[in-house]
Formats: sequence, C-alpha cells, structure tokens
Amino acid sequence: ATPMSIMTATGRGAQAGVLIKNAEALERFEKIDTLMVDKTGTLTEGKPRLVAVLPEPGHDEAEVLRLAASLERGSEHPLAEAIVRGAEERGVEIAKAEDFEAVTGKGVKGVVDGKAVALGNLKLITDMGLKADDLIEKANARRDEGETVMFVVLDDAIAGLVSVADPIKETTPAALKALHDLGFRIIMATGDNERTAKAVAGRLGIDEIRADVLPEDKARIIKELQAEGRKVAMAGDGVNDAPALAQADVGIAMGTGADVAIESAGFTLVKGNLDGIVRARRLSHATMRNIR
Ligand code: ADP
Ligand code: MG
Repeated sequence: ATPMSIMTATGRGAQAGVLIKNAEALERFEKIDTLMVDKTGTLTEGKPRLVAVLPEPGHDEAEVLRLAASLERGSEHPLAEAIVRGAEERGVEIAKAEDFEAVTGKGVKGVVDGKAVALGNLKLITDMGLKADDLIEKANARRDEGETVMFVVLDDAIAGLVSVADPIKETTPAALKALHDLGFRIIMATGDNERTAKAVAGRLGIDEIRADVLPEDKARIIKELQAEGRKVAMAGDGVNDAPALAQADVGIAMGTGADVAIESAGFTLVKGNLDGIVRARRLSHATMRNIR
C-alpha cells in the first residue's frame, strides 16, 4: 500500500480506537480467514468474582477459603484476585503463605500455617497424584454455567472446591456475529476446562474450541493452522498470550491487557472490545482496495 493510504487508515483507526502498528499488519489482515480468541479477558470481562466455596466433608467453608486466599495473595492471575477479594468481602482473615510457587496454566502451591496447600485445576491435582472422581459431578454442574472450578488441596487431600464466574463482555455477542458475517472461522482457545469453555462458546456461536491448553500451546495451535494453509489472527490480552500473538499472521491485543501482549501485536483495540476487529477489517479492506 502507499504511505498515504496507510497513514489514512492509521488515522481513521486511531479515531475508532484501533491502533495499527505498521503497514504489514494492515496488509496481512485482508487475507485473514481464521480468528483465534482467548477466553478470559478477551471474550469475558476478565474480572472474575468468587461465586461458591464448597468444602468437602470434615472441612469448613471459611477455612477452605482462607487457605485458598492465603495462597492466591502471591499470584497476579485474575482468578487469584477474585479469590482474595471474595475472602476479604466475606471477612475471612488471610494468612501469609511461604514457599509460594505459581504453576503456569495449572494453579498455585505453597505452605500456609506450616501445612502444604495447593489450588488449581484438574491438571494440577493429577500431577500431584490425586483423584477427584467423586467431585467431578459437583464441579461439572458449575462448569455448565460457565464457571471456572478450582480444587483446594490440604496435606495431600482435596479439602474443597472454589468456583469463580467471569461474565461475557456486553459487546462480545454482537462483535462475534459481525465477524462471522465477514466470513471468519472463530476458534476459542483457553486454559480453562473444556466443560466451562463449551458453556461459554455455546452462548456465542463459536465454531471451534481448544480447551485445557497451556499458554505455550496457543502458539503451537496457530502454527498448525498455518501449516494447513489458514491465515490466522489471534486476539488476546494476557502476558501468556504474547507468544501466540507473535506467531499469528496478525496479532490483536486488548488495550486493557498486559503491556507485553500489546508489544507483540500488530493491532491494539484500545477499549478492549472485539468490535474493533470489525473496524480493523474494514480499514484493511479499504486500504488495499485503494492501491490496486
Ligand atoms: P486462560 O487461557 O483462560 O487465560 P490460564 O492459562 O491463565 O488461562 O490458566 C488456565 C487454568 O489454570 C485456569 O483456568 C485455572 O484452572 C488454572 N490456574 C492458573 N493460574 C491459577 C491461579 N493463580 N489459581 C488457580 N488456578 C489457576
Ligand atoms: Mg487471558
């Protein structure tokens, strides 16, 4: 494209809340046929809140929450924030955890009051050699509502579940519909559980789900799609999304997300709403049509 047409598009984009990093991003966008979107913080508000604490027999609700929140105080994950805030709101006193360890895409571990505590998904507890067979039904009932369920482990036994809900952004359904109408195939990728992912995707008419993915898997999935000849844009907000944003033909960062995501992307949606992608596509189209 000519420098002039690029400048025009960049200016129009900025006015509409779409920051365009360079001409290549704009040019490549026109060829995109597949859009991969992260769930948390991209489709959803990314501000989850604690909705349930379900202790196992012999455990106390406030104690399970206290253990969970004490560990999560060391984490910057949005799920951690939800649990800490939930504990504070319920007047639960939070202790100081020692030997804190974040297990990427799985959860957190540490020592609270001298006892080994862990909190995270099924992968985390499976890695620890624990089984949750009796709890799966209980967990699935919440996941079918789109909630994220985490297991709280105390001294090598499951002490309870905590469940967190992250509402879908108000702008997401209409944006996804418009993107479908433009012909994109839409794939949702999430580190969350398949059941939760299906509940969310089902409400949005998403074409395909990749659930239970570790952060590094997102970039690999994009590579595989590209090997099949697809031209892939990826929209994400998190620190963990940066490699996938860089791998995509066009990376799209949420302006409300992590700085490293923004640095890795060709487009930034200032308001963090996916309707910016519809505008970006129109700008790309107009620019490329002008120069042919
Ligand atoms: P996403 O792709 O949805 O942004 P992540 O890769 O960050 O997800 O996390 C995937 C899953 O790992 C979460 O759904 C949760 O089950 C677990 N997890 C990650 N970090 C934490 C944490 N700090 N506390 C509890 N669970 C966590
Ligand atoms: Mg995310």
